[in-house]
This record gives sequence, C-alpha cells and structure tokens, in this order.
Amino acid sequence: MQLTVARDMDSLQDALAELVLAGKRIALVPTMGALHDGHVSLVRQAQELADAVVVSIFVNPTQFGPNEDFTKYPRMLESDIKKMDEARVAIVYAPEPDDLYPVGYSTSVSAGALATILCGRFRPGHFDGVATIVTKLLLRTLPHVAVFGEKDYQQLCIIRRVASDLDIAIDIVGAPTVREADGLAMSSRNAYLSEKERAIAPKLHEVLQTVGNALRSASVPVKAALDQGIAALKKAGFEVDYLELREPDTLEAMEQFESPARLLAAAWLGKTRLIDNIEVE
Ligand code: AMP
Repeated sequence: MQLTVARDMDSLQDALAELVLAGKRIALVPTMGALHDGHVSLVRQAQELADAVVVSIFVNPTQFGPNEDFTKYPRMLESDIKKMDEARVAIVYAPEPDDLYPVGYSTSVSAGALATILCGRFRPGHFDGVATIVTKLLLRTLPHVAVFGEKDYQQLCIIRRVASDLDIAIDIVGAPTVREADGLAMSSRNAYLSEKERAIAPKLHEVLQTVGNALRSASVPVKAALDQGIAALKKAGFEVDYLELREPDTLEAMEQFESPARLLAAAWLGKTRLIDNIEVE
C-alpha cells in the first residue's frame, strides 16, 4: 500500500474516501510525532485490527500549559514519514495548527472528573486539550478502531470515557508500554534527558515494580508502600509529582490493595517530566 501524506483536512478526506470505497477497515493511531518503537508497536497492533492504518502527527497546542514544552517539543516530520512508510501505514495526517483550529475556533471538550486527578492536578487543562483534539481526530477520520498506548494510562481512560459519553462509536484499544532494555518507558521526551539523567531515569520503572511487589506480597499497607516508593525516587534524584494506586477502570483511589490495580507515577528529572505506570495483579 502506497503511503499518502495528507497535510490538511481536504487531502485527508480524499485519501480516506479511497479506502472507504475499497471497503477497508480503518484504524487510527494519534501521535505527536518524534516517532519511536512505542508508536510503531501501536501501528502493528492497529494493523492486526484493521486493513489500513492512519497515523496522525500533530503537536497539539491546546494540551500544553503556558510554561510547558510546546515550542521545544521535538518535531521531525521527514524521518517520521519515512518510518511510517516502512511500517506500511496507509495515511499520515500531519496538519498545521490552523487546519484543526482555524480562526474563530472556540469549542472544547471538557474531560470531567477524570481530568482533575493524577496528572490533571499538575497540568490543569491538559486533558481537556487531549479530549478535544482526540475527539476531532476521531470525527475527522471516523475509523473503526483507534489505538492508544497504556504508557499514557490516564489519557487512555479519559478517551474511553469521552468516546462513551459522547456516543462516539469507535473501538478504543489500549496497547502495552514499550520499554528500553533498561526498563525506561520509550517517550519522545526522553530526548530531553542529559546523560546523567538518562542513567537515573530507569529507576522510575524499577520503583514501580518494587512497590508493586510489596503490594502483591500483601505484607505492606498501601500507604506505607507508596511512601517508601516516593522516598526511593527522591533519593535517586527525582522530584515526585505523585505515586498512586488506582482502580484500573474508574481510576478511583485504592486505599487497600485489590487485584487488579494500576500503579501510576509522574516525576521530574531536572526539567523533564517522566510518567510511567504498571498493572499490579
Ligand atoms: P505521543 O506521541 O507521545 O502523544 O503518543 C502517541 C501515542 O503513542 C499515545 O497513545 C501514547 O500512549 C503512545 N505511546 C507513547 N509512548 C509509548 C510507549 N513507550 N509504548 C507504547 N505506546 C506509547
């Protein structure tokens, strides 16, 4: 299948119409680019679920706070397109901001209560921006299925909620986190890390596993296990936003461990904010 690169809504619609006319089942993988093997694994999963995969590449301004990294977020469209061509993607949709947010644009999707906890406490407005852009991308593409990474676990839960609440009848599928050999979850933001920070970064996943094991063994109360994890992260050089145990679907706080649960963390190494999470069964 020849890759089509669509830089605006009209060319996206033309390319999609061809796929629809050919009776293809379509999957969407939304991304912000600087694509790595984590993104490629979502494409692979999407290809198992559909005949043709659309990858959107768009650094969405409405999900960045005023002091966040919107302008310095890595942009490498040419090499991203090459990677997606090699991965046999059907369409890369890579618009400019005014294609999605033209002059006069003023509507947004409010992601509700799920957007106020965990990362939402530290990044006000972030998940409304995510909910808005994902809703727009889903409606522009109207795929049968859309694939999102568990790496951004809260985002995945919110998108499921939004699709269900707004009657967007598209299957939302979660895909497992792809990690570097040392356990660090792959992320476009890892490029920000200095050599020294990069050496410390895998500790985030290591601490999640240690806390997960303590909870599983049932010998340590949840609060004590989380406090020990936070202390270990601080000792390694992280500034911790949160380390929390949550119910995996509703993201309600869990004071007592019950299987399955989700253990989620966000922590800073210097100027880079890392997030990670694991299932605890
Ligand atoms: P991003 O480009 O970082 O906005 O991510 C686009 C999609 O890729 C989201 O659904 C992410 O959850 C997913 N993703 C990012 N990193 C990974 C990873 N290491 N493993 C699996 N999926 C990922």
